[in-house]
Amino acid sequence: MEYYELTKLYELLESTNKRLEKTKHIAEFIKNCTPKDIDKVILLLQGIVYPKYEDKKIGIASKMVVKALNAATGISSEEIEKYWKKTGDLGITAQELIKKKKQHTLFSQILTVEKVFNTVRKLAKIEGVGSTDLKIKMISELLTSAKPIEARYIVRLLLEDLRVGLGEGTLRDSIALAYYEIKEKKSIDIENIQGLFGKDSELTTIRDKIQEAYDISNDYSVVASTLMEKGIISLNNIDMDVLKPLKVMLAQKVKDIKEGFERVGVPCAIEYKYDGFRMLIGKKSDKIVIHTRRLENVTKQFPDVVELVKENVKAETCILDGEAVGYDPKTKKYIPFQNISQRIKRKYDIEQLSREVPVELNIFDILYYNNNSLINESFEKRRKIIEKIIIQKDLKIKLAEQIITDNEKEAEKFYKKSLEFGNEGVMLKSLTAPYKPGSRVGYMVKLKPVMETLDLVIVGAEWGEGKRKGWLTSFTISCYDEDTDEYLEIGKFGTGIKEKDEEGVSFEQLTELLKPYIIEEKGREVKIKPEIVVEIKFEEIQKSPSYNSGYALRFPRLVRIREDRRPDESSTLRQIEEMYKKQ
Ligand code: AMP
Repeated sequence: MEYYELTKLYELLESTNKRLEKTKHIAEFIKNCTPKDIDKVILLLQGIVYPKYEDKKIGIASKMVVKALNAATGISSEEIEKYWKKTGDLGITAQELIKKKKQHTLFSQILTVEKVFNTVRKLAKIEGVGSTDLKIKMISELLTSAKPIEARYIVRLLLEDLRVGLGEGTLRDSIALAYYEIKEKKSIDIENIQGLFGKDSELTTIRDKIQEAYDISNDYSVVASTLMEKGIISLNNIDMDVLKPLKVMLAQKVKDIKEGFERVGVPCAIEYKYDGFRMLIGKKSDKIVIHTRRLENVTKQFPDVVELVKENVKAETCILDGEAVGYDPKTKKYIPFQNISQRIKRKYDIEQLSREVPVELNIFDILYYNNNSLINESFEKRRKIIEKIIIQKDLKIKLAEQIITDNEKEAEKFYKKSLEFGNEGVMLKSLTAPYKPGSRVGYMVKLKPVMETLDLVIVGAEWGEGKRKGWLTSFTISCYDEDTDEYLEIGKFGTGIKEKDEEGVSFEQLTELLKPYIIEEKGREVKIKPEIVVEIKFEEIQKSPSYNSGYALRFPRLVRIREDRRPDESSTLRQIEEMYKKQ
């Protein structure tokens, strides 16, 4: 397939904000993909060449693209930078410059999807001496063959910033629609799509199956190619790989025990809600892999946990879900998440840090055991299995503290006890429910005493003045819009941050954390790639025309940095709309 065809689709997606229109355009496209191309197309549509969980970056800096453009067009780097400043988009800049150049040359080679995909993958792998020159050469060769519109999207792909506004939900619905249309041998008009996604409808069933397969594989390219080649039944054969990351099940919030009981049904399990770090641990004989809820591999950072699992989990293969809680080695008391968060990013002195900030592993679920998936089994049964296979040791590895009850008084007592132990609250869990990776379905709910907070993404800041010179200040925060895969601004915060490196998060620490993600600077204003998630306390949500989410927070204040959250896991626009209505 020609890459040009894909860029035409990108253009269509960029031209509309309407989710259903996007769904239809993509479905049409998928229907015409050959089996050879479909997996690549699905990844490229998301602006990636490796599935997201693989944690492999393309790693091309904009400066390198400028040099490649210079080599491809002969236009000086200064000129290119000037153009870029004007357009604010290096992709558009590339498009315009290639257009200028092509007026003078006739020669052009046809680029295929495969060629672009493979070249970008190769680029991502090159390292070592001379790698910069080689990369520039390869990029400039691609750009020399590219039509102007192709140059635009190649550059954006290289910079991992595709800007076509495609959320995962829309991609999933498009795959479902394509399959449905092929199967039914008809083409659905845009106006009729919404109606077909009704309750219990066939299209909804297909969509849910796709979602389930995605929650297990975390890769739409595998799901789409399996579905298109072998049909819907074959999605059942997409199996878990215990060494690959999976999305964890998420919890909804409740305000008290009574609401929790109503939500999960009684009797239910109530467990301590540990204030630690969520871990999904895969075990295959002696090989142990630890992933975060952001799907990042943190095995190297937690050699102590690897040993604990090796020694104390009696299973040939399994996937365990749990929370690592830090404790003070002297007092043996639990310490808040913020203190162990430094272990997540640490690359050196790991052994020493694991002694200074030891963790206790609290296992609360199991998804896979000795070659069988358990996600469709009841929680009661899953808990029995962990009770059987884990050898418990205090301050090393434990099962989550649990009671089973339908009695409010007993539940309240347990909640109080949990807080006294330094935990965040309690979790209430349905005994009969399956495990739903990636979902906040309400099979487990959380109860905490603190006022509401939101997890928001930092997308901008200002360079400080006076005594705050050299630090970023006044941080712009955004929520996530699932429909468009965009981050929408909801306010600015500057409080809750320490001047010095005392207890808590300091300006300096935030500045260091955010610096690598600065994408644009104008005077003191800084634009930041949505990457860092923070927990924000506030008084109230208000309607506001000042921010593009349509909402603003009154008195926002930083609680903590959430290293364990992916940006697309932050609070969504829909959640904020709901909270606003509830106020
Ligand atoms: P929150 O981070 O406020 O959304 O609360 C949900 C989180 O609580 C989960 O993602 C886990 O990291 C954590 N957690 C602590 N203890 C438990 C438990 N016993 N069961 C499930 N999740 C727990």
